[in-house]
Amino acid sequence: MSKFLRVKCKCGNEQNVFGNASKAVSCLVCSEPIATPSGSRVVVAEGCKVIKVL
Ligand SMILES: [Zn+2]
Repeated sequence: MSKFLRVKCKCGNEQNVFGNASKAVSCLVCSEPIATPSGSRVVVAEGCKVIKVL
């Protein structure tokens, strides 16, 4: 599935993350990792929240 997830970081920044990202995704504001690839989909980091699936 090719979906984007709207993820909210611990710092409050909201960012779109590709659901099938093959690389870890970092927050554009605080540079903390917000999602890491796991198999064919991403796992959102602890403390970060998926707000919605786009
Ligand atoms: Zn952040």
